[in-house]
Amino acid sequence: MKKEEIRLVLKESYEKYKGLKEGVNASYIPYLEKINPELCAISVVTVDGETISMGDDKFKFAIESISKVCTLALAMQDIGINGIRKKIGDSPTGLPFNSVIALELHKDKPLSPLVNAGAMATTSIIKAADKETRWKRILEMQRGFMNAQIELSEELNASEQNTNCHNKSIAWLLYSAHHMYCDPVEACEVYTRQCSTLVTSIDLATMAATLANKGINPLTKKRVIDGRNVPHILAEMTMEGLYDESGDFAYLVGLPGKSGVGGGLLAVVPGKLGIATFSPPLNVAGNSVRGLKMIRNFANKLRFNIFC
Ligand code: GLN
Repeated sequence: MKKEEIRLVLKESYEKYKGLKEGVNASYIPYLEKINPELCAISVVTVDGETISMGDDKFKFAIESISKVCTLALAMQDIGINGIRKKIGDSPTGLPFNSVIALELHKDKPLSPLVNAGAMATTSIIKAADKETRWKRILEMQRGFMNAQIELSEELNASEQNTNCHNKSIAWLLYSAHHMYCDPVEACEVYTRQCSTLVTSIDLATMAATLANKGINPLTKKRVIDGRNVPHILAEMTMEGLYDESGDFAYLVGLPGKSGVGGGLLAVVPGKLGIATFSPPLNVAGNSVRGLKMIRNFANKLRFNIFC
């Protein structure tokens, strides 16, 4: 695929939707409510290491739930794909990302590592002797997927740690049902930190491109994860990467994707490229409105669809 063709369709997708006025910033995390809703970026990184990008692609925003994919990748290395299936699950919940009802319906088993409950359980599975080692290993995995400069934002982390009562409750529910594999307070705290790193749309496109490139980061050329785990990660993303909107995304776009309430959205075109967008206003499912439209337009126009 020619770089020029990608650039043209990327530009078209950006120009068409950058001014769209729909959706609202996440407000349950005070830091996110303050971000300028007009910001908009779209970036592609190819498996050959080419970067094509436009808009506010230098702006650093909250990774949020997109971090769940990095932690899942690490946990898969630690306990294997069958361990993940057994302990966390491999199915969509069909309910919002922070649903407690989803737990109640399945004997408190989280079902997916990409919803809050399953993500905290996944964080608790990471092999670590203490909290700081757990955090360091997760941060290193994010750096491998993106770049060595990825850092925690103290301001964002404080904003999240002070307002995450709902997640703390989920962590204790999991613990009471024996689905938490370390101290639940530690799991929730480290999970909240992993959501509080700052990234750009280019960083997220690099992460998506690493998955597209069977686990080797196309910019650093370093292997981040075992290539054999990639299809299982992409399957989890297809089923639950956009929560209760994952079915719509599979139907309309046909790519494994992952969203975050910070306004980030990424999608993987296996063997070809990673694409990511940033735009803070979200729909009711917690997915970026402009991001969804831009990625759908891009993928449809270039006929990127894993089901074709
Ligand atoms: N930190 C957020 C939370 O736990 C992440 C949610 C998301 O991005 N969907 O609620």
